[in-house]
Amino acid sequence: MSDRETRHRQAMQKLKSHVDDRVARATEQRGQLLVFTGNGKGKTTAAWGTVTRALGYGYRVGVVQFIKGVWECGERERLAEDPRLEVAIMATGFTWETQNREADTQACRAVWAEAERLLADPGVYLVVLDEITYMLKFGYLDIATVRHALAQRPAEQTVIVTGRNAHRDLLAMADTVTEMQEVRHAFNSGLQARRGIDY
Ligand code: ATP
Ligand code: MG
Repeated sequence: MSDRETRHRQAMQKLKSHVDDRVARATEQRGQLLVFTGNGKGKTTAAWGTVTRALGYGYRVGVVQFIKGVWECGERERLAEDPRLEVAIMATGFTWETQNREADTQACRAVWAEAERLLADPGVYLVVLDEITYMLKFGYLDIATVRHALAQRPAEQTVIVTGRNAHRDLLAMADTVTEMQEVRHAFNSGLQARRGIDY
């Protein structure tokens, strides 16, 4: 064996024992809270990817979309065929289109009621609260209500929260926080959002 191969083999063995140690230490099993935040693209995409993953094993999944009600969404179209997926959508669309705080608040509360129902259902393995961070920012929902529902949820249930500027209480509660960092976005060079890619 060449020196290079020996060194590579030793490095791999060291890496393997390091990974094995860490796997051995991860013994707790329960549902988790994941937050996908930051300004870069990919938060909602990652949430739908996880939805697909859970549905792939036959688990029941609930997705609650705050804000984007009137938007097309390819994953929703495709996965809606699965009877194990439930989707609730806040129907008013973007707030700067409706410009009606009262109506927005009501729409938010109505869809939040769906979220609360899902968060109380032990049969639901994964719940996605897509873009809920803005509801907290705009004051349509209060953080104490959301914190309470998350804290009381069934132990086996995983929740994914997406959206920019996640409330610090959500970050503090989360088991996993991923911040999507924008390095560049096509939109800023004048490229239009693309069907089947961006939505
Ligand atoms: P995606 O839905 O593609 O995973 P996202 O959830 O991370 O993106 P949002 O802030 O929810 O991002 O933005 C929703 C829409 O805006 C999507 O069509 C997305 O492609 C686009 N978008 C995401 N990031 C940016 C950005 N930095 N600049 C401009 N448009 C963006
Ligand atoms: Mg998003």
